[in-house]
Amino acid sequence: MLMKTTKLPRSECLNCGHPLDRATHVDGARRAKPGDVTLCIRCSHIMIFTEDMSFRNPTDEELTEIAADADVMRAAVALARMREEMPYEDDDKSDLSRWLTANRLGRPQ
Ligand SMILES: [Zn+2]
Repeated sequence: MLMKTTKLPRSECLNCGHPLDRATHVDGARRAKPGDVTLCIRCSHIMIFTEDMSFRNPTDEELTEIAADADVMRAAVALARMREEMPYEDDDKSDLSRWLTANRLGRPQ
């Protein structure tokens, strides 16, 4: 499977402050774009990409939608599994430490 990674302007996780500058889609074949759901690789905090590809917290309405989205739940499980296999280390300077899994919110366009 070809993994497409989207390079992002560097932002920090809104919850834990971890620097994030890349996103990898759970399906591996799509690039992250505004409106997509993303999970912090470190704390799994759920955020939404803004127009300039920084983050904002989801609204209550969006959270309800996200909770019902099988793709997002799949991403959360994949992230948890990845963390088990490759425990996150704070001093890890590899690109991998900054990856997050991105996900579409809503329907494909
Ligand atoms: Zn975080």
